[in-house]
Amino acid sequence: MKSLKIALIGYGRMGRIIEEIALSRGHQVVATIDSKDSPLWQSSTLATADIAIEFTSPSVAASNCSTLLDMGIPVVSGTTGWNDELTSLIERVKTDHSLSFFWASNFSIGVNLFFALNRQLARVMNSIMEYHVSIEETHHKHKLDAPSGTAITLAEEIIEEMPEKYKGWALTPNSASIEENILPISSTRLGEVPGIHTARYTSPVDVIELKHEAFGRQGFALGALMAAEFLAERKGFYTMQDMMALFIKKSC
Ligand code: NAD
Repeated sequence: MKSLKIALIGYGRMGRIIEEIALSRGHQVVATIDSKDSPLWQSSTLATADIAIEFTSPSVAASNCSTLLDMGIPVVSGTTGWNDELTSLIERVKTDHSLSFFWASNFSIGVNLFFALNRQLARVMNSIMEYHVSIEETHHKHKLDAPSGTAITLAEEIIEEMPEKYKGWALTPNSASIEENILPISSTRLGEVPGIHTARYTSPVDVIELKHEAFGRQGFALGALMAAEFLAERKGFYTMQDMMALFIKKSC
């Protein structure tokens, strides 16, 4: 694997873990920028970066990523919550073939494998009417949104693959109380749990469970670095599905 010169844009919780894992994978961090006023934005050091990894905040992500792309630096961004501007930026990258950009709302390799396996199981289950699906998620007590974005993605992918069975999903503590064609999601907020998701396929005679449990933020950071290694050799716009497709193809 080629050693990359990485610029870290955002040196908060994610930026710090990304730095640790980048160094352990033999990469160099040539610039660390943690504010819009950093003098490093104007420095020649930033221009030497092979790639930038951006984890900041929704109010600054669009301007950060545009500036980096203007400089000809490929960008991996994990900042969430800037959907409209993100759509415009993706359009720009798709029309200007000299640019490289990778964005994902969840960089965890494990979660993305979990999505792929769940999708395959749901596809098979669409024609086996005995199985009912439910989703459970547990997160730390500080998490404000429920259900989690990951649980919603799981549900939407099941609904897409099981059109014979499901028309929508609902957040409910009691799956028995909702209509048959609505996929139930239950959310629990508990202590400091980083994140547990279970997709449960139950028939009258057995149950199949797919479960993902995160131990911390390291999984997101590792995924972002793997995305940087993937993007360094490519032009265009990519997301986790593109990178996962490559892994899945290699293993077949
Ligand atoms: P954080 O608040 O700990 O860190 C953000 C950092 O960005 C801060 O240190 C802040 O000083 C810095 N910053 C603010 N404006 C800046 C600017 N203009 N230029 C450079 N730096 C600037 O947040 P975090 O936990 O590191 O998360 C950052 C983002 O990543 C959030 O949007 C979060 O939702 C997202 N996130 C995504 C994933 C994923 O897998 N995609 C995983 C975890 C977090």
